[in-house]
Amino acid sequence: MDTETSTQPLIAGYDGVVCDLDGVVYRGPDAVPGAPKALQDIVARGVRVVYATNNASRVPTEVATQIADLGAPATASDVVSSAQAGAARLAADLPPGAAVLALGGEGVVEALRDAGLVPVAAARHQPGPGADEVAAVLQGFGKELRVRDFERAARLLSSGLPWVATNDDATLPLPWGQSPGNGAYIELLVAVVGRRPDVVGKPHPPLYRLALDRLGTVAARTLAVGDRIGTDIVGAEATGLDSAWVLTGVDRPSDLVASESSPTYVVVSLADLLTPYAAPVADAGGWRCGAARVELDADHLVVEHGSADPVEVVRAGLAALLASRDEGAPSEHLRRAAATLDRLFDDSPTPTR
Ligand SMILES: [Mg+2]
Repeated sequence: MDTETSTQPLIAGYDGVVCDLDGVVYRGPDAVPGAPKALQDIVARGVRVVYATNNASRVPTEVATQIADLGAPATASDVVSSAQAGAARLAADLPPGAAVLALGGEGVVEALRDAGLVPVAAARHQPGPGADEVAAVLQGFGKELRVRDFERAARLLSSGLPWVATNDDATLPLPWGQSPGNGAYIELLVAVVGRRPDVVGKPHPPLYRLALDRLGTVAARTLAVGDRIGTDIVGAEATGLDSAWVLTGVDRPSDLVASESSPTYVVVSLADLLTPYAAPVADAGGWRCGAARVELDADHLVVEHGSADPVEVVRAGLAALLASRDEGAPSEHLRRAAATLDRLFDDSPTPTR
């Protein structure tokens, strides 16, 4: 949030982008307006883009096809999945060709195979004499998993085998609401075997490190873009990457002030990466950004915005709130004050430009 204002597009400071998908590139079946064109323009500038996804159930070709069908540049090698990060973690420790129980969907099976390991489907694994010598377990979300598959995993894990999980998102958003995600299924096994897996997906660094390998860029010249504070922004911070928090997804300013994170940039959408970034600056007890000036007074924000763009108000307001948060201001005051920014954004006629 202390970045200086430049006349260059924001993206000019970077050689690579680690881009989140849901809430950034698409929402459900539809593209976020302007996102595919922005990605085309970013790639046309010579900046590399990879898409990092915690979704371990889908294979990269399927994800890339969805992105490309929306008009954004993507091939399978541009998709970095938590299943691939999990398989890479195991391949670093196991001999080539080692058998790994694939407790997950096709994404987990394919990632293990591509990493030179032999996936053993939980449904086909019969413990006992003559069974495959399974050397580890990779757990990811799989819609077809059954109780019996978890029984087999529990039996193997009870003997102390290495256990890697693709991601620990407790919930999986579906059109009707929240369904159990891989994190919930991890807890099911934790309750039985009494230990926890190594988790590689966001917000844990291994997925970001795999993305950096794929990009061939250094962390200092790589930008992570995402909509969720607890996964995308926390993960970027844990890996030492600058981050751009986009407002086209689920989290709102009140979610940010309730966290311990401070994204490097607050942008409306991916299109803002192609314009100069107006950073907030401290201004006599308040914060200024472009034409907006915001001051925190106890539990509410005093906003002077004149002709300011709503995102300038959000940036100045968040700078005020995060500065107070980091000085230990009461969190209920900050949340109440942040509601002003939530409403401002929600009232905005168009969240994307
Ligand atoms: Mg997202």
